[in-house]
Formats: sequence, structure tokens, C-alpha cells
Amino acid sequence: MEHFTLPCCPSCGKEMKKGFIQSGTRLAWVPKVTRLTVEPSFNQDAVLLSKQSRLSINYVDAYLCESCQKVLVDYGQQGD
Ligand SMILES: [Zn+2]
Repeated sequence: MEHFTLPCCPSCGKEMKKGFIQSGTRLAWVPKVTRLTVEPSFNQDAVLLSKQSRLSINYVDAYLCESCQKVLVDYGQQGD
């Protein structure tokens, strides 16, 4: 097993807390906000972030800095 280091907050440099962002719908980064009725993957500029569990929960790995109130999303990794 590879040793896993938690990322540091880009603002304060402290170690971030590992967790997830979960949603009932697919999560995407978008360059601008559109109506929620539009499926994110239909927007060609959208970057789909979430994976889907067997229970139809959409989630993505995310790291939290409570002091700066920032969340860092890691969307490149597939599977558990
Ligand atoms: Zn911070």
C-alpha cells in the first residue's frame, strides 16, 4: 500500500480533512451556473466530478479546511 498524504490547504497550508461531497444528482464543475433542470454533462464545458455508488449516491472525494472554509475536490480517482 502506498502511503497516502493528505493535501494541505492552499490558503493556510494546514493539513486538510478527508471526506466526500455527496448529492442526489450528478456533481459537475461548470464555468457558469445554469438552470438545475439541465443535466450537467450536457454542457460541453462542464467537468463531471462525481462517481456513483450502488445506492445511486453521487459522491466525490473532497478535502476540507474548516479554518479557511475551503474544499478541495479530487475528481480524478475512480472506484474505492
Ligand atoms: Zn486553510
